[in-house]
Amino acid sequence: MTAQLIDGKQISQQLIEQIRQRVAARSDRGKRAPGLAVVRVGEDPASRIYVRNKLKACERAGVQSFSHEVPDSVAQPELLALIDRLNGDPAVDGILVQLPLPDHIDSDAVTDSIEPSKDVDGFHPYNIGRLMLGLPGLRPCTPRGVMTLLQHAGIDIDGKDAVILGRSNIVGRPMALELLHAGATITVCHSRTRELPEKVARADLLVAALGKPRFVQGSWVKPGAVVIDVGINRLDNGSLVGDVDFEAVRREAAWITPVPGGVGPMTVATLLENTLQAAEIRDPDRS
Ligand code: NAP
Repeated sequence: MTAQLIDGKQISQQLIEQIRQRVAARSDRGKRAPGLAVVRVGEDPASRIYVRNKLKACERAGVQSFSHEVPDSVAQPELLALIDRLNGDPAVDGILVQLPLPDHIDSDAVTDSIEPSKDVDGFHPYNIGRLMLGLPGLRPCTPRGVMTLLQHAGIDIDGKDAVILGRSNIVGRPMALELLHAGATITVCHSRTRELPEKVARADLLVAALGKPRFVQGSWVKPGAVVIDVGINRLDNGSLVGDVDFEAVRREAAWITPVPGGVGPMTVATLLENTLQAAEIRDPDRS
């Protein structure tokens, strides 16, 4: 068997085009463009690339972006004061603070300081709580983007055994909740999990989000499984690989996402989807 590719690049482009059309339709009815404030602290090279991609995607979708580049030396109260200003700025519908933050900044305090209705990353405890309860809200972009990919590929999740590798607050945990709400039976694995290959072998749907290059072996994967590779790992030679051994896993799975060109572009497109959602809630279209 050779797995079919789930083309995240193409699906993300379709999603951005849909957002552009919805933004344009709102503008025809006199609504301003949704606004996204992106805050980058310090000079982390990966963060630079992520922020640049997000700003470019805003342009394509007709979302207005406000870029704030803050020096590494910023004191926490100063950063919180910037977020406070953005919370009160009527042109800003969404606020994204690119992670990771420097060690002297308490990331949780920063996340907590974002007004939940502008929390387009979906990391605020209010929004995570609503996700937990299955209530509408702003949902973390990567897991929401994975759900969109699965939907596009026509994959039925109801009743499936889903195994998630990783329990981080930004990927693994919210991914487990999304799949649970969609009717899957969930196993969440992490660094303390025993007999991991046996657990992986039970997965009809496997989501790998560990940050370990080519960790998941082809021999672990159930034939016909759906494999979603969230990992982004840069090798010494500069190339990007995921958390699964793509060539070997592709021979076992029915569906697989590539890296790059799988989940990554969906995260960016979903950020814009969340920003439009935040703008629609703040300024509803009643026509
Ligand atoms: P993270 O915060 O470092 O979490 C990694 C998780 O993997 C932890 O729960 C950890 O377990 C678990 N883990 C680590 N080694 C393991 C092992 N040997 N066996 C089983 N579990 C293990 O990472 P993250 O932020 O969730 O990101 C995960 C990966 O996704 C990274 O490659 C990141 O770059 C990528 N990512 C991609 C996107 C995208 O848009 N495609 C978005 C976000 C992240 P413990 O909890 O026990 O430590």
